[in-house]
Amino acid sequence: MGKINVLDKHVAELIAAGEVVERPSSVIKELVENSIDAGATAITVEIKNGGVTFMRVSDNGSGILKEDIRPAFIRHATSKVKEEDDLDAIATLGFRGEALASVSSVSHLELITKAREEELGTRYLIEGGEEVLFEDAGCPDGTTFIIRDLFYNVPARMKFLKTDMAEGNAVSNVIDKIALSHPEIALTYIKDSKNMLHTVGDGKLLSAIYAVYGRDFTRKLIPVDYTLGGVHVTGFISSPENARPNRNMQNFFINHRFVICKTAMAAISEACKGTVMVGKFPSCVLNLDMSFNAVDVNVHPTKLEVRFVNERPVFDAVYHAVKTALMNSEKRVEAKLGNDTTKPIKRVNPFELAQKVFRERDEQSAVKQPLPRVNLQQEQKKADALFTMLDEPEVSVPKINLNTKVADSASPVEEQYRRDIEEKRAEKAQEPITPDPESEQPVPVGEGLDPPTNQSAADVPEEPIEEPRLLIEVDDNAYRYIGEAFKTYVIIEKNPRELLLIDKHAAHERIIFEKLKKEKGSGYSQLLLTPITVTLNKIDYNAVIEHLDVFREAGFDIDDFGSGSIIVRSAPQYLPLEDIKPSVIEMAGYLSEHKKEIRSEKMEWIYANVSCRAAIKGGNNSTEQELIALAKTVEDEDIRHCPHGRPVCIVLKKHELERMFGRVE
Ligand code: ADP
Ligand code: MG
Repeated sequence: MGKINVLDKHVAELIAAGEVVERPSSVIKELVENSIDAGATAITVEIKNGGVTFMRVSDNGSGILKEDIRPAFIRHATSKVKEEDDLDAIATLGFRGEALASVSSVSHLELITKAREEELGTRYLIEGGEEVLFEDAGCPDGTTFIIRDLFYNVPARMKFLKTDMAEGNAVSNVIDKIALSHPEIALTYIKDSKNMLHTVGDGKLLSAIYAVYGRDFTRKLIPVDYTLGGVHVTGFISSPENARPNRNMQNFFINHRFVICKTAMAAISEACKGTVMVGKFPSCVLNLDMSFNAVDVNVHPTKLEVRFVNERPVFDAVYHAVKTALMNSEKRVEAKLGNDTTKPIKRVNPFELAQKVFRERDEQSAVKQPLPRVNLQQEQKKADALFTMLDEPEVSVPKINLNTKVADSASPVEEQYRRDIEEKRAEKAQEPITPDPESEQPVPVGEGLDPPTNQSAADVPEEPIEEPRLLIEVDDNAYRYIGEAFKTYVIIEKNPRELLLIDKHAAHERIIFEKLKKEKGSGYSQLLLTPITVTLNKIDYNAVIEHLDVFREAGFDIDDFGSGSIIVRSAPQYLPLEDIKPSVIEMAGYLSEHKKEIRSEKMEWIYANVSCRAAIKGGNNSTEQELIALAKTVEDEDIRHCPHGRPVCIVLKKHELERMFGRVE
């Protein structure tokens, strides 16, 4: 054993920094949270190269007094809680006074700030924890932090950074969550000189959701507002018919801080039982306002999972909030921007917040509220009733005529939407249209947009809705069709010697799978008359953009539609129209979760996904001809298992039957 050395200050700083600063997104989170705490009403975030070389956060908040600048960079220096206050609050609210110390020790940091009460602002440079410059500067009220070359002096940490794309995604995700949790702040986000997000900051959650997830997503939401057992749940949940194949669009906030909340996830699933199909998850943006003492948020500076002192009240509140919202949605008028009746979110002063924590803690020790019991049977009945109600046709949303000028009274969000669309149209108009030699169909102009109202409905050809058909033809006397059991199992007599029992879905699935694999999607792709737009969260969206070739090979022609949306122009031929969107969402989720998988593995999964959806289902009607053809293909190609490994065909030899019936030994 060597002699024990006390690490010098610089090394100790680097170790401590690792706890707070993991990657660019954690720096952005800390800086933006500081801006929010400083009372900013407008915050601009800009990053380059995933944030690794450049991050800038500007706000119009309180600014930092000249005399407070140096202390702000000392570890455990914070203006937000006083010494006599409690350590609890520091843990709960995340005021640890560590962020600036940590970030400045592992980067080149520039700070430009001016407090309202001061004449002149300050420019401060600090590199690897060492002060380089401290000078007066003429600048507006508020604060700008510029962080360059993160981890330039910690190569070990640098090595753990992922690609710029992945780091940029993580930042985008943090920004989305902040936008959703603080609709009262106008947030602008620029990535590699591209405008990625702008929220208006009108305090309306729906405006923020619109900016983050787009129009399509926003108009299918049901408002939630419910209080139970000291937990106030507010926000929006997607209608059951718009549930998604994964939880990637479930957003939970506790007291306006983003968290990963397994209790709330479980409560939503429970509340949606019977209304949402098994394996589907409603999207949501829900805030849970509750006593700060009931929850332990950000126990570790970068961990997002929360711990509750008692989970039951949280579960019950979310469960009943969602149930009630679904019940009320019978009276649902589409969630419209102008219709957002939720109270605008007001800003909170961090100091007052800390005071509230102490007050609540003192009060809480005196009061214990009994919780109402849930009668699950009764809830199920209500859910069943609701299910029937939801089958009723949706109230339609008036279409926006893009050719007319929007009235002056239009909300800023609508204006923004109009501008976005006009930009998109202009971009599209400039693109040379290359005719597809394979396709005879004309490509409609302005795809994905609502048709202008002066176009009559008859001009728009209807997309044919068909049950998937088996396009296999055969004329072979060797196969005699006996029948179909349960509209699922085909019974065929082959030659005089064998009886085939075929699961028609599994067989068709395997046939399509093999064909997709062989033809790499080309023979299966079909141009959609009305392209479909799909909104995704930023991580899934980027996964799609990164894998456009993979989609193309599976028969999907997809383009970037900007701001987290993509547009599907072609899809595999037999994929039912209503399956295209869920299929793309599912594939996006898979690709973002399985980044490391090699291409061939991804392709296999995607082919399997498409073929499963495209294949005829048990219960579909099929003609005798089709079923014989299916049997023949199964036999010719010796198909015995579906892509998931389930058997496709069971062969009963005549001889075996005879033995079963005791005709032969
Ligand atoms: P904490 O946020 O836990 O207090 P930080 O290290 O993040 O610790 O920040 C240290 C201090 O710097 C804050 O308490 C605050 O006084 C000041 N500060 C940081 N960012 C800003 C900002 N954008 N505007 C005003 N003051 C700020
Ligand atoms: Mg901070």
